[in-house]
Amino acid sequence: MTTAVQALSWAERLRAVGLRVTQPRLAVLDVVHTDPHLSADQVAERVRASIGAVSTQAIYDALNTLTDHRILRRFEPAGSAMKFEVATGDNHHHLVCRTCSTVTDVPCAVGSMPCAIPEDTHGYLLEEAEVTYWGTCPACLGAMDA
Ligand SMILES: [Zn+2]
Ligand SMILES: [Zn+2]
Ligand SMILES: [Zn+2]
Repeated sequence: MTTAVQALSWAERLRAVGLRVTQPRLAVLDVVHTDPHLSADQVAERVRASIGAVSTQAIYDALNTLTDHRILRRFEPAGSAMKFEVATGDNHHHLVCRTCSTVTDVPCAVGSMPCAIPEDTHGYLLEEAEVTYWGTCPACLGAMDA
């Protein structure tokens, strides 16, 4: 699954932010890149399936470190486990189905961050507005009609 080209570019991204290139970090990036919006447990499961024995703690540490360095982005829909995706800086938002918890990416209609400004910023320098749209996905709508 891991191509030499991709492994190289992940390694370069790690080095660019001053992180050591480790096998768990590369495996985590590969898994999250292949399949965005996974929970930490799902990431751990897939990393183990791909590179063998790695402790859950090592995988959680990798997720946290990569998120702290903004290589990964994490979001947490209410009532659901934290989910991870590769941070692309595209400021996309998420549609979440209330019934089946499916997550779908949607581009931000505004584009630049932050895309929603409160009436009063209380002197904060705002970076980002995290938008989650809640609703019912087409599959669940179809099931309701049946
Ligand atoms: Zn649904
Ligand atoms: Zn997303
Ligand atoms: Zn937006």
